Amino acid sequence: MLFKELSDYYEKLEGVSSRLTMIDIMTELFKKTKPNEISKVVYITQGILAPAFEGVEFGMAEKMVEEAIAIATGYTKEEVEEEYKKTGDMGKAAQIMKEKSKLKRMSEKEYTVMEVYEHMLKIAKTSGPGSKDLKIKTLANMIAASTPVEAKYIVKYPLDELRLGVGDSTVLEALSVVATGNRSMKKELEEAYNRDPDLGSIAESAIKGANSIKEHGVEIFKPIRPALAERLPTAEQIMEKMNGKAAVDQKYDGFRCQVHKKGNKVKIFSRRLEDTTAMYPDLVEAVKKEVKADSIIFDGEALAYNEDTNEFLPFQQTIQRKRKHGIEAKAVSMPLKLFAFDIMYLNGKSIMDEPYHKRRNMLESILKNSRTIVPSGQIITTSAKELEKYFQETIEDGLEGIIAKELNSKYVAGARKFTWIKLKRSYRGELSDTLDLVIVGYFLGRGGRSEFQFGGLLCATYNDKRDMFETVSRIGSGFTEAQMIELKKTLDKIKEKGKPARVDSNVVPDFWVYPKYVVTVKADEITQSPTHTCGKQKQPDGLEVGYALRFPRLVGEEAVRRDKSVEEATTTEEVIEMYKQQKRVSIGSTES
Ligand code: ATP
Repeated sequence: MLFKELSDYYEKLEGVSSRLTMIDIMTELFKKTKPNEISKVVYITQGILAPAFEGVEFGMAEKMVEEAIAIATGYTKEEVEEEYKKTGDMGKAAQIMKEKSKLKRMSEKEYTVMEVYEHMLKIAKTSGPGSKDLKIKTLANMIAASTPVEAKYIVKYPLDELRLGVGDSTVLEALSVVATGNRSMKKELEEAYNRDPDLGSIAESAIKGANSIKEHGVEIFKPIRPALAERLPTAEQIMEKMNGKAAVDQKYDGFRCQVHKKGNKVKIFSRRLEDTTAMYPDLVEAVKKEVKADSIIFDGEALAYNEDTNEFLPFQQTIQRKRKHGIEAKAVSMPLKLFAFDIMYLNGKSIMDEPYHKRRNMLESILKNSRTIVPSGQIITTSAKELEKYFQETIEDGLEGIIAKELNSKYVAGARKFTWIKLKRSYRGELSDTLDLVIVGYFLGRGGRSEFQFGGLLCATYNDKRDMFETVSRIGSGFTEAQMIELKKTLDKIKEKGKPARVDSNVVPDFWVYPKYVVTVKADEITQSPTHTCGKQKQPDGLEVGYALRFPRLVGEEAVRRDKSVEEATTTEEVIEMYKQQKRVSIGSTES
């Protein structure tokens, strides 16, 4: 396929806000794609060169791209920058500069998708002295040989600014339509994607048929999508949901680590499936020494722990381990302990389908006598009273709460299921837990805030059934000055002219932004409201009512949460569940 054709599909997608139309366009695109190209088309559409765990990055800053456009069009860097300032979009700037280029198109060469991909890969792999100039030159050559529309996407791709609105779920649905003519294969594709988070390779198999999809099993050094927990506010409700018997784990607030080991090689992946091995030299050594298995994948949480006083350090301190420099020194001054809580693979075989109690026994026997990599603290109980007591003791030890686990459950990759249920300290008193919301717009500041040109955010939940973002709140407080400045700067780069695709909103902010960032928000209460679209339903009087937050405020030190993608934000279903729980708790407290 020619890159020009792919660019035309992207042009079509840019003008579309209906998800169904998007699926139609993606289906048509995939049908036109050759089997050897489909994985690359998927990566380009996702704005990546390879799945996150491979850690392949472009390493192109805006200034470098500006220089490449200047070289390719005969203008100065300043002139390119001026155009970029006008449009606020580097891709658009490249397109305009190409249209009025002072240089003749270098050749009549028409790039194929594969050629563009190969060149981009070359840019990413160029490193060492002189690499910056080489990267700029390679990009400039591509821009020089392409049409204005192609140039737009050639520039947007390495800057991760494609903003096509196509989520993973849209890709999976379109692949199902290509393979079967309808959505029937989507669930199977999703399950394969949860075991093997390489959407490009899932696409390759999808077009080969159902048998190929089944082949996507768990592999060592390829992360599995982590299992996630649901929440309930009381010990009684948890025991009821667990059918009267559960394992109750201590819940640690640190870094989630998915550890892979084969022989003497170890890799550690984050919750977002990034390869974070370099961050944990101490844990890598400990895994090699203490984990007695030929090959293994296990799940755990790492946090700083003071051996002398037997105390856990708070997350604010543990997070200091997340830095690029001085890793070795920090590993000595602030060693981590890894609390292992599940095992998914052992000695060449996936054991995700084994019942949890059996997996836990295996984990305990592998970690017998270990010091740094230890099994999470746990009791097994049939009594809500005992669960509550353990929860209280855990909190007194300075931990966040507990996670109850169903003894017979499989390891459910990538999904929030009631096989794991969390109960946190923060559920008592205030609204249960914080919410992770997607920013879809922002408002300008008024009064004291006008100097920042920033007055608050329009935030949404993710409705995974509709694959849409539904607004739930306008957040106007909790920001520090530094956060306001950072938010404004970050969001200005992803402004959209109109309501972005997959956003459902009755509220119109001063600026729409592409759904890319997640913020953590706390509120006093969830209320029903006609203003927002989160979980909206028609009432008997015809009015549509959704859910909203009362007294919402931003929490956390970082302005945006970079460890969660927008599809991992709090879902609409969770908000509805939290609303119901809040009602139950308040009914319960009036009775007592
Ligand atoms: P989530 O990970 O559920 O999306 P979150 O990132 O806000 O939400 P929490 O709600 O605090 O995190 O709780 C879930 C996380 O708790 C898990 O992802 C895991 O990293 C961590 N965790 C700590 N201890 C355990 C344990 N014993 N068993 C399972 N998970 C645990």
